Amino acid sequence: MNEPLSFVHPHANSPWGTYISQVDRVVPYLGHLARWSETLKRPKRTLIVDVPIEMDNGDVAHFEGYRVQHNLSRGPGKGGVRYHPDVTLEEVMALAAWMTVKCAAVNLPYGGAKGGIRVDPKRLSIKELERMTRRYTSEIGIIIGPQRDIPAPDVNTNGQIMAWMMDTYSMNTGTTATGVVTGKPIHLGGSLGRVKATGRGVFVTGREAARRLGLKLDGARIAVQGYGNVGSSAAELFAQAGGTVVAAQDHTGTIFNDKGLDIADLAAHVKEHGGVGGFAGGEAMDGEAFWDTRCDILIPAALEGQISAARAHRIKARLVLEGANGPTVPEADDILAERGVLVVPDVICNAGGVTVSYFEWVQDFSSFFWSEDEINVRLDKIMVDALKKIWDTADRHKITLRTATFAVACERILTAREERGLYP
Ligand code: GLU
Repeated sequence: MNEPLSFVHPHANSPWGTYISQVDRVVPYLGHLARWSETLKRPKRTLIVDVPIEMDNGDVAHFEGYRVQHNLSRGPGKGGVRYHPDVTLEEVMALAAWMTVKCAAVNLPYGGAKGGIRVDPKRLSIKELERMTRRYTSEIGIIIGPQRDIPAPDVNTNGQIMAWMMDTYSMNTGTTATGVVTGKPIHLGGSLGRVKATGRGVFVTGREAARRLGLKLDGARIAVQGYGNVGSSAAELFAQAGGTVVAAQDHTGTIFNDKGLDIADLAAHVKEHGGVGGFAGGEAMDGEAFWDTRCDILIPAALEGQISAARAHRIKARLVLEGANGPTVPEADDILAERGVLVVPDVICNAGGVTVSYFEWVQDFSSFFWSEDEINVRLDKIMVDALKKIWDTADRHKITLRTATFAVACERILTAREERGLYP
């Protein structure tokens, strides 16, 4: 008999609610392993920490931080750290769970974890950001480590924040622990190709999916929601392959150009102004109208829950590439499937980032570093092979790519679970 989790109150379209519904959909395909499926619905370990820091004006401010280790059956925990004012424990639980599925989908020897701080980092000075990062790292230091749980960048975190995390953990343990975080600067044991890896993975899975659909990238119209690291890197690669990026949206605005946005000019504008809003090479467009954009490929690369049922009815694309984690709610998934819109789900589409994080971790352990070409070639192969296996599974059972990815991943996770056995 399973008692419900006392600290979870998901509504249907919340990230955790979405994740649970995705697990429910895969259970019929798990055979004898279904016996263990409840494991997937419970995070192994959740930690809530108080993060007090002294502000530049002398005040003391408290932030709430989290680190969730969803599952460690196949290896140490792996997953990013997010700084955002809307972060909650339940959201971090869902993000950690998606990491478990994602790492297994590309067969990396990791479990799934995620962290976050409920904060608007744009309102902190650089020194406040550093103090908050260091105190948070120290607080979660009791459960992270190169063989235990390895954080990485996510929304609003970057290489500099990883450098402070690596330094804080190293100071606390009297080591130089390069392998405790990934997504570090190159001089601290970072990997070439890591910054753009998530966007590159979106491109590689998109290229393969487009090929199978008979959709030519040359001349394809592309719309991107979220023009941060993932969205902009993917847009650049699609533009290089002959695609036309017609619309881009982020928290600063929505821009449109029927003839195509100039990606290099847009990158320069975003660097200077912090977002796409006000870009002179396109017209400003109403935010909600973005979902009606006439396009072949739609890339949601922002936050969870963006593709609602209502928006799913309006999407014009043939292919949706989930650069974000959890952008599509379950009802919208059904609508897109009925309408014949192919969705390459987050848990494979955006797995390029964690794949190169894995390369970084391996390089740190062996103290031997690879060229960018080697990284990109290996990344391409892992993504292509993983997608092929998922596609074959989807064809065999006549299920969506999302349920097929869960089927491939959950079989690996639960086989490890079963083989390890219950302790004691
Ligand atoms: N935050 C990224 C993700 O959601 C990368 C995590 C990692 O590299 O560990 O997949």
